[in-house]
Amino acid sequence: MGIFDKVNAVSRSVSEIGSSAAETSNLKKKIAYEQERIVELMQEIGQKFYESQDGDHAAEKELCKDIDDRKRRIASMMGELSSLKGIRICGQCGARFDEKYTFGFCGNCGTKLADMD
Ligand SMILES: [Zn+2]
Repeated sequence: MGIFDKVNAVSRSVSEIGSSAAETSNLKKKIAYEQERIVELMQEIGQKFYESQDGDHAAEKELCKDIDDRKRRIASMMGELSSLKGIRICGQCGARFDEKYTFGFCGNCGTKLADMD
């Protein structure tokens, strides 16, 4: 790895570190959106089935695949969410603290930590 690769890797990892509270609320919003879409898709499948009860139901099967994709996405976001649970991340140095760490400032670099949800 050259020096420029190293610099890129460092700046990338810094920009990826947000506060865990912001990441958590962002993930929750995305999961809620996918869940709403699944409900809409379920209705659409029911409607299509009703309209062509003797058809081949190819359109409904496509929509079922869409739901499967969304369910997989939700599952992986749920995994990310649980890995963030109970952790406070310093936005400055990336240090991770258990949520039992209730101080307002990072114990590593002294930056003010974001409030928990
Ligand atoms: Zn810090």
